[in-house]
Amino acid sequence: MSNIKIPIAKPIIEDEEIEEVVKVLKSGVIAQGPKVAEFEEKFAEFIGSKYAIATSSGTTALHVALLSAGIGKGDEVITTAFSFAATANTIIHTGAKPVFSDINPQTYTLDPSKIEEKITDKTKAIMPVQLYGQAGEMGEILKIAKDNDLVVIEDAAQAHGSIYKGKKVGNIGDLGCFSFYPTKNMTTGEGGIITTNSREYANLAKMIRAHGESQRYSHAILGYNFRLTDIGAAIGLAQLKKLNGFNNARIKNAEYLNEELSDVKGISTPISQNKTKHVYHQYTIKVSGEKRDEWVKFLNDNGVGTGIHYPIPIYKQEYYKSIGYNDNLLNTEDATKSVISLPVHPSLTLDDLNYIVKVLKDASVKLS
Ligand SMILES: *Cc1c(COP(=O)(O)O)cnc(C)c1O
Repeated sequence: MSNIKIPIAKPIIEDEEIEEVVKVLKSGVIAQGPKVAEFEEKFAEFIGSKYAIATSSGTTALHVALLSAGIGKGDEVITTAFSFAATANTIIHTGAKPVFSDINPQTYTLDPSKIEEKITDKTKAIMPVQLYGQAGEMGEILKIAKDNDLVVIEDAAQAHGSIYKGKKVGNIGDLGCFSFYPTKNMTTGEGGIITTNSREYANLAKMIRAHGESQRYSHAILGYNFRLTDIGAAIGLAQLKKLNGFNNARIKNAEYLNEELSDVKGISTPISQNKTKHVYHQYTIKVSGEKRDEWVKFLNDNGVGTGIHYPIPIYKQEYYKSIGYNDNLLNTEDATKSVISLPVHPSLTLDDLNYIVKVLKDASVKLS
């Protein structure tokens, strides 16, 4: 049995979510219906985008966004290998090829200075991941995209409410994709959403998520069933109202940890770019690579939940090796060996935070 006292993630489901779900169940419309439409409208308003198209997961949001942008066989999409596998898997699902570019070692997001050397005449898009809740160097990425006529699809699965130079993440590139998995900053159970200002992309996305239907039983293009349910949307509507509060609690927790850990030996606290509002989907520290597993064991043995986001670069996953990938990106490799995510979620109490700090200080004495 695990003796984790403070879990790495903890979704907050309250009476409002439960009551809204019950209303949907009693309404008779439980698949995609009026609640999904209302959720899309409210989410677009929150992000500041013209359109939002809800999907069954963050993964299907990425898949549909890529297809809506016309990405497919023969195309290349530049992205990061320091992410959840879904980022690159969805590119493969379209028939295109993910091309991995290295990250900035401080923010763990794509290093714009390395992107241009990866561009070929097959490159169609850049998919930056707004990792841990903060936007990458979007200004430079947008410029590279503009100069090379590339589409920018933001993987914003971890960054609901994050802001880059006054613009919400998901409204910076051509398309933005969010996940509502229970560990994310807000949830619908399983679920996702695409944000865009393009009417063309929005219309295509709506069709692709429902078997290419332009009207019922009229299939103009090939699509899937990637719809969100009204049950999920009802949870999402309740969560969306609380998102700013959740994020503020995450930020406060992160600032407290930053302060308390600032001079603990052996730990580097996360760096937030001053151009961004970091919403701390993860609070990820860095320790010496050789001892990372010992830090994790010490934390877990003492009841503190941890996560490694991410332990293996995507190009080194078995499947990617089997299809011929053999990249070796220095900063990506280094990050996979040295990061540890700590609990930062809104349910943490001050006692929890102080306990996490105490265990880290003990670990530091023992391991650094
Ligand atoms: C969670 C996540 C996804 C996938 O979202 P699901 O809802 O789990 O399908 C994609 N990319 C990143 C970076 C994620 O964190």
